Amino acid sequence: MKVKCVLCDQINVIDDESLLAKRLRNRPIHTYMCEQCYRRIAEKTKARLATGKFRIYRSNMPHDEW
Ligand SMILES: [Zn+2]
Repeated sequence: MKVKCVLCDQINVIDDESLLAKRLRNRPIHTYMCEQCYRRIAEKTKARLATGKFRIYRSNMPHDEW
């Protein structure tokens, strides 16, 4: 079946018998993402998780002495 990526509008053909095709048929709301977009999103998510681990500690530096 033909599927269109929701992000870049690229049209791909996937195997009718594949799990993905079945899932898309059962749930038309389920959106398809091409592999490139999927990876891009996955990387973004990873990056966000990585930055989420960061804690910004305010340094307790004493004020400059005049
Ligand atoms: Zn795409």
